[in-house]
Amino acid sequence: MCDCLTKIQDNLKAKGLEIPTSLPLRGGPAIPFFPLYRADTGKLETRRGRPKYVMPTHCPFCGAEYAQEGSSHDA
Ligand SMILES: [Zn+2]
Repeated sequence: MCDCLTKIQDNLKAKGLEIPTSLPLRGGPAIPFFPLYRADTGKLETRRGRPKYVMPTHCPFCGAEYAQEGSSHDA
């Protein structure tokens, strides 16, 4: 597990900004996620009032694999 997100969040925090992340599960790392916007209207896509999003399986900054829940291999 890399620390790209931690470093970037620390830099953004100084400017009062942050990248949205998942809530860590079982003490695991927070993972950045990407909210989805309608291509035709540009509006945030929601389902039952909650934003729809995709989550990466690898770090979008350096390419290191994020450990998956139930994964058979550990970093
Ligand atoms: Zn990384």
